[in-house]
Amino acid sequence: MKNNVYQGLYTDASTSAVFRCAVRFEDKGIVIQDLEEKGRDTCWPPEEIWTDTVHTGGLCMLYRGHRPHSVLKIYAKNIDKIIARRYKKYNFVQEHNDYYINFSRVFSILVTLAVLTAVVYYWVLPPATEYAAKYIPRPVEEKLGDYYMNYLAGSRIDEQKTVLVRQFFAELNWDKEYNYEINVVRSKTANAFALPGGRMIIYSGLLDSLDTYEELAALLAHESAHVELKHCTKNLCRSLSHSIFLALLTGDVNTVFAVLARNADLLSELSYSRSMEETADKHGIQMLEKVGVNPQGMLDLMTKLETLGEHSMLQQYDFISTHPAMEKRKNYIRKQLAENYTGNAAVDSALSAVWQELYLLNNPGE
Ligand SMILES: [Zn+2]
Repeated sequence: MKNNVYQGLYTDASTSAVFRCAVRFEDKGIVIQDLEEKGRDTCWPPEEIWTDTVHTGGLCMLYRGHRPHSVLKIYAKNIDKIIARRYKKYNFVQEHNDYYINFSRVFSILVTLAVLTAVVYYWVLPPATEYAAKYIPRPVEEKLGDYYMNYLAGSRIDEQKTVLVRQFFAELNWDKEYNYEINVVRSKTANAFALPGGRMIIYSGLLDSLDTYEELAALLAHESAHVELKHCTKNLCRSLSHSIFLALLTGDVNTVFAVLARNADLLSELSYSRSMEETADKHGIQMLEKVGVNPQGMLDLMTKLETLGEHSMLQQYDFISTHPAMEKRKNYIRKQLAENYTGNAAVDSALSAVWQELYLLNNPGE
């Protein structure tokens, strides 16, 4: 094989001497001949040679050893291709050793990190925080619920109706994990929602539109299911996951609470996922069956809400928010009733009596 000679510039690692050289490519390695004839000839075995990047054009820069490494610059047309062909068994291009910063690699690492961070921030963090909400202790949930209750209910509480609904709720007497505190708020809005820790708000606009005690029982069952299954706390944590995460970085639990409390207004805007609604409906029906209340009330309630929803611009609230899915919702309720309900719930006189009082409040003289 013909060995061409190329012009180069050599920097010696140990002496820092820089000299012009003649370069030949041989099987044993790159032979570097000192053109200044000071006896500094050397040969680089191919296995010790590396370069940091593929050069193009007329310059190739090669290194040998670790820092301080000797450097060989060779000037010739297509020199990179010539070297690659001559030493094709060896891969000179390396992602280097500890000292050299490979910018393209750093850049790709940074991009990967940024993408990962975005994925974690937007897709992993919300469900993870929602999951963690399971472990929020009940007293904390109650404290949060109180906070929101004060914010949302203000001074608009209808005392008389609140007393009666609480009495009605107590008569239902179902198994529950939480201490419930229900308030009826004067408002034309047809809605109700549960707050963390067993707090519940019912707007008189909805309460007054109910026709039977079974409908009220169904409403309370549905909202209690949201509480018992921690839906409200989970929802809140999910929607505030980013702020909670940032607060946690400060390592202070009080900051987390402050974040939740600061966002009190958010709670009235959050809607549950379809699956949460379905779970609450089904759980609610079971609760009704357990205490002997006709669960048909759940279906009647949905039909009522559907009618109310058609006249309401308020799409964000609990019941109304799922309005587009109402037909589907009624279907699974019908299915569950058909499968499980035996149809022999007797009229509950205690519930009926409280209901009658509520009814008279709205319809005096009847
Ligand atoms: Zn709901």
